[in-house]
Amino acid sequence: MAIPVLFSAPAASWESYAPFLKDLFAKAGLDVNLVQSTDNPDEVKYIIYAPNGPVQDFAPFKNVKLIQSLWAGVETALQNKTLTQPLARMVDPGMSEGMADYVLGHVMRHHLGIALHASVQPGEWRNDTAAPLARNRTVGFLGIGALGMYCAHAVAKQGFNVLGWSRNLKSDDIVDCHAGPDGFAQVLGQSDILVLLLPDTADTENLINAETIAQMKDGAAIINPGRGPLIDDDALLAAMDSGKLSGATLDVFRTEPLPANNPYWTHPKVLVTPHIASETRLETSAAVVVENIERGEAGKPFLHLVDREAGY
Ligand code: NDP
Repeated sequence: MAIPVLFSAPAASWESYAPFLKDLFAKAGLDVNLVQSTDNPDEVKYIIYAPNGPVQDFAPFKNVKLIQSLWAGVETALQNKTLTQPLARMVDPGMSEGMADYVLGHVMRHHLGIALHASVQPGEWRNDTAAPLARNRTVGFLGIGALGMYCAHAVAKQGFNVLGWSRNLKSDDIVDCHAGPDGFAQVLGQSDILVLLLPDTADTENLINAETIAQMKDGAAIINPGRGPLIDDDALLAAMDSGKLSGATLDVFRTEPLPANNPYWTHPKVLVTPHIASETRLETSAAVVVENIERGEAGKPFLHLVDREAGY
């Protein structure tokens, strides 16, 4: 019998994913019945999932071996109390590449002081602002998971010193890795540019607050493509107003779309981007979906399973 796989993501995604997935399933030698809806939920073995897809009640899917998300962030999925089946988040090489472009671009923007030159008045000849060499600047990454580590390597390749911080201590040839409260203090205290690529969990909320900003270098900048709740917004605005921090690039917010009256929009030291740092890419993510289903059928452990206890 063909393997029953339900695709529960918005209709537009079905149009693009279905032919790709069918082709990859065939190439992997998997006989899959890929459907957009079903009257027999207890027959479904795998669900390809986006939190904004049609299925919101997962209770009837009693025999599902894996729910494979197309999204990297899992906080919305974890809020769905009917979704109790094993859940894999998306770790997509294409998404990592896109995130590295975004992070490197904004690291360079802060490094080169581009905002200053973009804001000078005609005739204002500010030639005292040449940037130091990249190797004399330090970029810290809070979060060196799939995305953070990839971006850290891209930034290191440009010549910067790169520090990383994670929950479990890692070891890497390029990134100087830290963990725990002492490691956090070191990364905060040494970084000229701090990149946030942490998930939104109970432990990471408001990690960037008045107290932790005070531990940062004077004139440091923050880039946040992680999640809005990582930052205490009032504390960040106050730190930019006081001159403690030189600027911020913010891609994610507590409320999205960011309301028109939010002070970030007009703050001279802030660049707002509308949650576009990176996204799941069709070709590379379809391959990840197929690989995980292939593993399930071969009795191998699934990749990228979410740890519900840790919240990511
Ligand atoms: P991963 O789960 O691979 O990495 C998360 C990293 O955060 C890991 O290094 C993890 O530590 C660390 N971490 C988690 N909790 C803590 C903690 N309490 N203290 C210290 N470190 C912690 O996720 P990804 O790299 O794939 O994605 C990161 C985030 O990026 C996503 O959760 C999502 O919010 C965001 N994102 C944003 C996008 C955008 O367009 N703006 C697009 C895609 C994702 P450890 O390694 O020890 O587990």
